[in-house]
Amino acid sequence: MGLKEWVVLPLAKKWIAGAELDAAVQDAKRANSKGVGVVVNFLGEEIRDPAAADASAEEYLRLQQALSDNRIDGYVSVKLTQLGLGADDEGMLSRLRKIASNAERLSQLLWIDMEGSAFIDRTLETYMALLKEHRGVGVALQSYTRRSWADLNRILDAGGKVRLVKGAYKESPEVVYATKAEVRASFEKLMEELFRRGDGFAIATHDGSLVDRANALSQNSKAQYHFELLKGIRDDLKLELTKSGHKVYEYLPYGDRWWAYSKRRISEHPSNIWLLLRSLV
Ligand SMILES: Cc1cc2nc3c(=O)[nH]c(=O)nc-3n(C[C@H](O)[C@H](O)[C@H](O)COP(=O)(O)OP(=O)(O)OC[C@H]3O[C@@H](n4cnc5c(N)ncnc54)[C@H](O)[C@@H]3O)c2cc1C
Repeated sequence: MGLKEWVVLPLAKKWIAGAELDAAVQDAKRANSKGVGVVVNFLGEEIRDPAAADASAEEYLRLQQALSDNRIDGYVSVKLTQLGLGADDEGMLSRLRKIASNAERLSQLLWIDMEGSAFIDRTLETYMALLKEHRGVGVALQSYTRRSWADLNRILDAGGKVRLVKGAYKESPEVVYATKAEVRASFEKLMEELFRRGDGFAIATHDGSLVDRANALSQNSKAQYHFELLKGIRDDLKLELTKSGHKVYEYLPYGDRWWAYSKRRISEHPSNIWLLLRSLV
């Protein structure tokens, strides 16, 4: 075990179901037993080798089947660069189509994560193309990007589904809003539009005041929506929302490529370093 594994792995286990598919299924059952659905992600990104991208796609097909066999309330979420986006775009589309067809066959939704800004255009182009073939597909949109208002309207015009998040990647100020207040205000504006003319969308945040705002907006909207929160973060809020009758899904990553994901969780909340140190003593 290297230093990175030894130091960060104990903390990463808080956010990640485990290395194997079976660990994700067990965690999914635990979440379902509390009334919480799951969005399962097989960890991996920026895969350039077509054989490795094929292996990721195969894992997703197995995962979808396992969710169905175990009657799990949940579905998968993929990153397009783990299917070859940026290295083998044609191959990526064919892998994604297989996963989308499998989702449809199993009556599951399929979500697409949004990655760094270099991939936004191609992710949205791919999403729009797939939406013409499969209606049960949704895509994440990041409120920190300045372009997200235009993107949201394009997706809503096409009848698409959105998972609204703040955004997790390091980006330049030309691309993203500089302050937390601006990112929050953008989230609120996008959320208002979702409640005005979206349907089947996900509000994915641990920010209690935005959750309250969503619930207030829902009073004057007929839209179907649900909340999504990450595994290991704000379990109190998940429980509170479920108890008050809201549908909550937990984003559940698994696999051994946990480093990039963990770095994002630590950098958005540096106090996790203290949790890490506490877990080591
Ligand atoms: C279901 C789901 C899917 C996501 N998918 C994507 C995606 O596809 N693309 C993308 O760029 N980003 C994605 N994200 C991540 C998102 O962009 C944010 O980085 C992340 O959710 C933190 O933002 P926040 O809205 O929770 O607000 P913040 O202001 O960061 O946090 C609000 C509060 O939540 C708690 N909290 C938040 N993060 C942590 C943490 N790491 N550790 C401990 N406590 C924490 C704290 O109490 C904090 O005060 C996703 C998030 C969720 C919940």
